[in-house]
Amino acid sequence: MTATLFSNLFISTVLLTTLAKLWLARRHLAHIAAHRAEVPAAFHEKIDLAAHQKAADYTSAKTRLLMLMAVFDMLLLFAFTLGGGIQWLSVLWQQAFTHVIVQGIALIASVMLLSTLLEAPFDLYKTFVIEARFGFNKMTLMLYFVDAFKELLLGVLLGLPLLFGVLWLMERMGENWWLYVWAVWVGFMLLIQFIYPSFIAPLFNKFSPLQDATLKAHIEALLKKCGFTASGLFVMDGSKRSTHGNAYFTGFGKTKRIVFFDTLLQRLSTPEVEAVLAHELGHFKHRHVLKRIAYSFAMSLAFLWLLAQLMHADWFYRGLGVEMPATSLTTAVALLLFFMVLPVFGFLFKPLLSFYSRRHEFEADRYAAQQTAAADLVSALVKMYQDNAATLTPDPLYSAFYDSHPPALVRIDHLQTA
Ligand SMILES: [Zn+2]
Repeated sequence: MTATLFSNLFISTVLLTTLAKLWLARRHLAHIAAHRAEVPAAFHEKIDLAAHQKAADYTSAKTRLLMLMAVFDMLLLFAFTLGGGIQWLSVLWQQAFTHVIVQGIALIASVMLLSTLLEAPFDLYKTFVIEARFGFNKMTLMLYFVDAFKELLLGVLLGLPLLFGVLWLMERMGENWWLYVWAVWVGFMLLIQFIYPSFIAPLFNKFSPLQDATLKAHIEALLKKCGFTASGLFVMDGSKRSTHGNAYFTGFGKTKRIVFFDTLLQRLSTPEVEAVLAHELGHFKHRHVLKRIAYSFAMSLAFLWLLAQLMHADWFYRGLGVEMPATSLTTAVALLLFFMVLPVFGFLFKPLLSFYSRRHEFEADRYAAQQTAAADLVSALVKMYQDNAATLTPDPLYSAFYDSHPPALVRIDHLQTA
């Protein structure tokens, strides 16, 4: 491999994936527009035309924003790499600090901070223009900035020590550094999973024990029937930020918590809440969560090994617009470049990951249909599609590529024939 060859490979992959994203989005928009005039036959009695059209318009607005972001992210990636951004920042931090790990942390933190700031307008537009226009947003600008500040603080408190440890191991542990870094990474991720329910999530939301005695009794009966132990049922004030509803599990082993968004409980009947919960239990019964964690650990091991091979290759740096750093800042530059470029090539695997995710959803649905009534899950899903203004008519190819959940029609069809 030479630097020029790698540059060309990088540029063409970035261009092709961006074009693919835009092409898929265009198809999606066209498909939604073509089906906007009429509610799909299977939903005639469940969803009215106004709700269907609201979903079409909402999905289209979000898709157009994603197209803009795809182009912007491409330009940003080129600016940081071949445009010389990382090169310029490396020189700057090398002049500012003497300690190589401090230089490395400054480089990585500044690139992350710059990207976040430059992408913030898109996020602001999504929340305060699109979400607001369709009546979903409940955030104030004040809350938005308080959230951003807390996220930054968490990033500093958790991210900086991790980054320091990783760079230190890369410097000191010789050829096998990637094994040590992987062990630290696994430990860090497990720690986050462990502290998330009790320390991180409460920074952003209020969690109160489920009060509704009837619902609680039903849920406890369902949990017992499924042989599931949880250390608590909580209601989260999701309505603080948005009217979108959801339910999820957090934590590990016996400390597992079940969390319902208040917005979900307001909309669904008791049997529907049970069906939604049974679906989530299905994910646990089929060990989807464990499989996902195991998969991500295996992938990170492979990536770190790959990085260990690449970081000694001159073409890797020069091909991405960085002069092979003279000092040992190499480590931080290699780490940064690698994790910026990885998603470009990772995009090619997106359809495969989406496919696996949808298969898990079918398995969880089937479990829910066995433990509760399929009809309850169907009516809960219809309400959730309606409340979230999720389109019922996605472009099939777009959906196959991106969607972690099966399209509404297919999903409900599976449930009704289960
Ligand atoms: Zn699911």
